[in-house]
Amino acid sequence: MDQNTEPAVEFSLNLIGQWPEPMLLLDGERFIDANPAARRLLGYGDRSALLGRTPAELSPAFQPDGEPSAGKVRRLLGRARDGETLRFEWVHLSAGGQEVQVDVTLSPIRQGGRQIVLCAWHEIGGLKQAERAARLANEALARSNRELKHFAEVAAHDLQTPLRTISQFTQLLHREALNQLSEQARQWSTLIMDGSKRMQALVESLLSYSRLEAPLPSLEPVDFRSVFEEAKSNLAGRIRETGAEICASELPWVLGNRTQLVQVLQNLMENGMKYNASPTPRVAITARREGDAWAFSVSDNGIGIAPDHREQVFEMFLRLHTQQEYPGTGIGLAICRRIVERHGGRIWIESTEGGGSAFHFTLVAANVYATGI
Ligand code: ADP
Repeated sequence: MDQNTEPAVEFSLNLIGQWPEPMLLLDGERFIDANPAARRLLGYGDRSALLGRTPAELSPAFQPDGEPSAGKVRRLLGRARDGETLRFEWVHLSAGGQEVQVDVTLSPIRQGGRQIVLCAWHEIGGLKQAERAARLANEALARSNRELKHFAEVAAHDLQTPLRTISQFTQLLHREALNQLSEQARQWSTLIMDGSKRMQALVESLLSYSRLEAPLPSLEPVDFRSVFEEAKSNLAGRIRETGAEICASELPWVLGNRTQLVQVLQNLMENGMKYNASPTPRVAITARREGDAWAFSVSDNGIGIAPDHREQVFEMFLRLHTQQEYPGTGIGLAICRRIVERHGGRIWIESTEGGGSAFHFTLVAANVYATGI
């Protein structure tokens, strides 16, 4: 105890000394006593190490709300000395430099003509620190996702030019110097051409995936029949090559971005023809009403997808087959999922009765918001 402490104050000091919760006494802006619980909380074994110090000296320079600790403590202690009882959260620094978060109650006490302030702490650090750690982890994850996305965009964009050069010049070499090349060299140049074509396809898919990060243009009523017609016409070459039969039931109007919806349907229709060993690949598009939405199905008579893989195939770059079996980049379904989810819908896979696969996705019906269409 301070040698100058008056007998009346001494009574309070003895009282708080027994108290199990952290308690301190302040005279002016300085601590004149701290009970064992308070000293334990801040990690000061020696009582004299706390006495005579100000709360600001035992706090970080700024509180979480951005206010400097020194100014804030002066203002709050001033109000307590004027007779107010105050309750607020405060961050202290322990003797070891760790942040300790406490719920503080300041109560004015008049002792022997002297205005002192009783300060009671309740530690809330555990919960707050967990919240803070979770927030920091989320922020770090969002930052790292942004950086990765930026990296992918830049890498994909900057890779395009050198790739085009490699591709053009190996094609030239192959054409112009074919006769001078040995059989082995011809095989190598074919491998280089195939490799660079594949890399170009990957880079283009990556770019189209990262472009989907841009804010979605406002959704407008879209006639899904015209989406189907456009996707079918874009796939005309493929349909001819494979002899596929493509059919669609009556298709409704939905709310969406036309270009992106064509991308979704085209990817699914193309996969239906590609992952198909039947002599006549068939792809059928149907729609059924589900509350405020339309649920579309794109079914095929193809090779099917095992139940264990039905979630995975929506992951970026995930493929169930080798390039030799079925060429591809593994981004098509990731793009479909991203577009559908950005439209407020969901996408999933089910088996079809005769084998094959059925991809389902939902989109908001246009007449929910725009009647008369
Ligand atoms: P890609 O076709 O370029 O490989 P996707 O993302 O479109 O990429 O498809 C991912 C994987 O999902 C494919 O490699 C394939 O294994 C499987 N898949 C997609 N559509 C079908 C389908 N209709 N039938 C069977 N398997 C499919």
